[in-house]
Amino acid sequence: MPSISILGATGSIGGSTLDVLARHPGRFRLHALTGHRRIATLAEQCVTYRPERAVVPDASAAMQLRNLVGTLEIDIAHGPAALEEVASDADVVMAAIVGAAGLPAALAAARAGRRILLANKEALVMAGQLMIDLVLRHKATLLPIDSEHNAVFQSLPRGRDTSVKGDGIARLILTASGGPFRNMSLERMASVTPDEACAHPNWVMGRKISVDSATLMNKGLEVIEAHWLFGVAPERIEVVIHPQSVIHSMVGYIDGSVLAQLGNPDMRTPIAHALAYPERIDAGVAPLDFAQLSGLHFESPDMVRFPCLALAKSALFAAGSAPAILNAANEVAVEAFLAGRIGFLSISKVVEASLERVAAESLESLDHLLEIDARARVEARNLVEQHTI
Ligand code: NAD
Ligand code: MG
Repeated sequence: MPSISILGATGSIGGSTLDVLARHPGRFRLHALTGHRRIATLAEQCVTYRPERAVVPDASAAMQLRNLVGTLEIDIAHGPAALEEVASDADVVMAAIVGAAGLPAALAAARAGRRILLANKEALVMAGQLMIDLVLRHKATLLPIDSEHNAVFQSLPRGRDTSVKGDGIARLILTASGGPFRNMSLERMASVTPDEACAHPNWVMGRKISVDSATLMNKGLEVIEAHWLFGVAPERIEVVIHPQSVIHSMVGYIDGSVLAQLGNPDMRTPIAHALAYPERIDAGVAPLDFAQLSGLHFESPDMVRFPCLALAKSALFAAGSAPAILNAANEVAVEAFLAGRIGFLSISKVVEASLERVAAESLESLDHLLEIDARARVEARNLVEQHTI
């Protein structure tokens, strides 16, 4: 029985993964669960799902977890090295930590040649080339969890997971719901609250990705993610707004065919797909009821009200360290917005100015990348000060 580690088990994707796994006892041996701040949630998960190991950030969180689980037989470890360890020694790794914090463990899983179910898109945005090189060199397998990329993967010829060049692919079409502010005036957008930004019309997600969906930065990060996952040139990756979130993305072929993957918006579908691939298993998701659909609508994204999408695309065209700078600045800006320190419209301003201030350069190594990431965060924090409400 293959073993599985769930990195970021206490999050939205982590919880959905446990839900799917619980429907299929005997399919996987649960090796490790990891959590960061929600130690009580992690404790409940440990008691219910009985992993062999749990990983938390530091010694005090480890002690807290031990107190909560009592005499439960479980190895509790802490710190970044332990995180990389559980990412390396399970057959399958669900990479569902949010943000740059998930990069080292995702790289460790690639280095160990594991099957990586990748939700942590920021890892590919920051270090796409590095990650793909490691996956190829160590014969790891990368399966996309992001619903759009999972949909593209399912719509590719023979479900292939490497470069799609020469397969008659004309374009990838990523769908976007448009988020909670799709029809809102710029004037009103200036004063939206974090809770309004996190109230996504179709998906329940962690707060960072919810804000990214509201700014459309999420779609920009996904264009970069698609470029690395499928080896498709940036100019052949399109974005279309589709408010119903029923078509999760599409692949256009040179003969005019467009293949799409549809379903109810529930992350358990892509999670179940990647867990069982190439088989199919029950995900607990209700079947799509076509008679109940009010219609499927499509429109172009508004680049004026949602500048983050264009910023991400230009960072991808600029290549080198530009996507990492974009990602770092966005993480800092979103955190400041969620903390009530800057307004919603300042997020794109902080990202744009960070890209201007930190010169893009070609990436030489992981250390170089981490140094640029740190520099971009310093600049972004300075910019946040200037935009503080
Ligand atoms: P979340 O905020 O609900 O959960 C994040 C998880 O990461 C938690 O388990 C948390 O403990 C852990 N974490 C946070 N900071 C950490 C740190 N510094 N070190 C170690 N662990 C840390 O987020 P989510 O919505 O589950 O998203 C997780 C990832 O999946 C993100 O990269 C997101 O973009 C991607 N994703 C999510 C969805 C979704 O529907 N939620 C869809 C597509 C992609
Ligand atoms: Mg997505």
